[in-house]
Amino acid sequence: MTGLLERYAEVAGSDAVMQLRQLAEPLQGMKVVHVNSTKVGGGVAEILSQLIPLLRELGLDAEWHVIEGSPAFFVCTKKFHNSLQGAPDLPFEEELQIYERVNAENAERLAPVLKEAEVVFIDDPQPAAMIRYFPQRKGKWIWRCHIDASHPDRRVWKYLRQFLKDYDASIFSLPDFARMLPHPQYVIPPAIDPFSGKNCELSEEFIQGVVKDFNLDPSCPLLVQISRFDRFKDPLGVIKAFRLAKSFFPSAQLVLAGGGATDDPEGGTVLAEVHAAALGDPAIHVLELPSDAHRIVNALQRVAWIVLQKSLREGFGLTVTEALWKGKPVIGGNAGGIRLQVINHHTGFLVSSPEGAAMRIRYLLQRPENARRMGEKGRRYVRENFLMTRLARDHLTLMLALLHRETERIDTTQWKS
Ligand code: UDP
Repeated sequence: MTGLLERYAEVAGSDAVMQLRQLAEPLQGMKVVHVNSTKVGGGVAEILSQLIPLLRELGLDAEWHVIEGSPAFFVCTKKFHNSLQGAPDLPFEEELQIYERVNAENAERLAPVLKEAEVVFIDDPQPAAMIRYFPQRKGKWIWRCHIDASHPDRRVWKYLRQFLKDYDASIFSLPDFARMLPHPQYVIPPAIDPFSGKNCELSEEFIQGVVKDFNLDPSCPLLVQISRFDRFKDPLGVIKAFRLAKSFFPSAQLVLAGGGATDDPEGGTVLAEVHAAALGDPAIHVLELPSDAHRIVNALQRVAWIVLQKSLREGFGLTVTEALWKGKPVIGGNAGGIRLQVINHHTGFLVSSPEGAAMRIRYLLQRPENARRMGEKGRRYVRENFLMTRLARDHLTLMLALLHRETERIDTTQWKS
């Protein structure tokens, strides 16, 4: 067993790792390509940066490629993102032309890799139209949807569906998100890597350094939300909840930390709104972090008394997983994948308004022992359900299922080494 897998065995158990090796056995050397739209920032980049090395260590020839697009392209795809998540924002005809042109250019650039791949995973709508340029493809193509597409704007869905229908399968994070498509659909929630800079153990010295750098007081209640500055993450709702809770805990502090993602052009506008809402309140710390500030995010999650993720829509919410893994109770918006992770009254609370969030903040600050117990349950829950080993297992199983679609029974024991 090699290094990464050995370490995983310590956290996820040796059975989990043995199962991975067994599933990977018939896929040795197989070329698997993942394509998304940003190398840094946001959950998809976070997942791919951990999943690819694990698949490689398991013996697959896994690669990760990122499409290149102009600002106008990302304006268009952000409109897709908003519209699919139920906030209609229709791209203009010219923007759709840019979308298709950028997909055509990337298809040409990536053709040598994509033509060779036996399995291609295309993440989210940004690169989805590339499939059109591979009519003779030999590999299986899978569309991986990370967002809450349960109530999309019908016009945008209809437009994207013309590309999506050609895939061999699609993956959604929750059963509720699955859409009518003429191919098998799989439900696979994301996962975190416990050894990444975002989640690994940190020295007390480093953590205290972060506390000092950002001028936080570790002896006073600290609430933290880490998110891209995106309206769906409801940073203004968080500020409102914090102000309500602060009337009971005047010494409370709030950290709203976020950075940009290269495929999200709206970040600057939302950040300006957040600054305006927080203006003049020294207890609200709005932090703009570089996209590689993984250990700083890690430290902020560790010093938080409560982690908030008050999203109005959420594909999955890796920040919730990260916080639960660090033993923090999470107050999360009652949306999408947060529901899968925040088990009401067990690993945290689901809320639907700033007032509800404020009530739960107050509850947890008044009952630190309950908060601690919830945090413990949260960590256990993540260990059992949301570690990268489980995600790799699901991916391997899916690939086996697709490649052996004609086989009546897939017996993995025959591959046991
Ligand atoms: N993140 C980060 N820095 C930031 C904001 C977010 O590193 O300033 C990370 C966060 O820790 C998480 C991911 O980006 O790993 C966000 O994933 P999530 O699923 O929560 O939301 P998304 O951005 O994909 O909608």
